[in-house]
Amino acid sequence: MKKFILCVFALFLTFNVCFADELRLDKEAKYQKQVMQVGFRILNANQIEKRMTFYYINNKDVNAATAMSNKTICLYKGIIPFFDSDDELAAVLSHEIAHALDAHKGLWRRLTMAASSKSYEFKADKKGVDLMVNAGYNPVAMIVVLNKILGEQNWFERPISHPIGSQRLITVYDYIYSKYPEYLVDNEYKNNLYYQNFLLTTKKERALVRQRHSNTVPVSNKK
Ligand SMILES: [Zn+2]
Repeated sequence: MKKFILCVFALFLTFNVCFADELRLDKEAKYQKQVMQVGFRILNANQIEKRMTFYYINNKDVNAATAMSNKTICLYKGIIPFFDSDDELAAVLSHEIAHALDAHKGLWRRLTMAASSKSYEFKADKKGVDLMVNAGYNPVAMIVVLNKILGEQNWFERPISHPIGSQRLITVYDYIYSKYPEYLVDNEYKNNLYYQNFLLTTKKERALVRQRHSNTVPVSNKK
């Protein structure tokens, strides 16, 4: 009897392990598919004729990266919990596609990118907003996802090549405000926790943006 129970237990264990493995594979495959679908939608909608590929990497780091040499865009497992929608995934992929487009301009461009990566971060955020809008994604998701991911390091803590989180957030806000203000009027992220947090923490900076564009953005689009 004891043997029988042991056998059943062993069988149960093996079955469980296999089942868990299969579930995990299913999940990984699902993420890979989602990353490809959103990535290729951005490429096609923007008529990007350069070839790029998208990989989901099983690694706990919170990271997304573009391999400059072969234009492969990699999304790490650790960043997946930061996405609540395809728009937010599209925000990170668009930023990376913008880097890859720059990398396509050749070795010299890649070297300048490495030397002044701070300005290329702002550039990739803005270009990313354009790519998102053209592909039918809501660019406010760029603010939302950056607000979740970026920390706020002091100038002596961060690498000189990386801008402070709030600088990137407000630059994206400024860009959307001046180029696509309609997205900021009654936007669908109005009640989003992370967007509300952005509004709460950037009152002064947003007032400055509004002031700066007071003559250029139509009154009906102001928010
Ligand atoms: Zn970047």
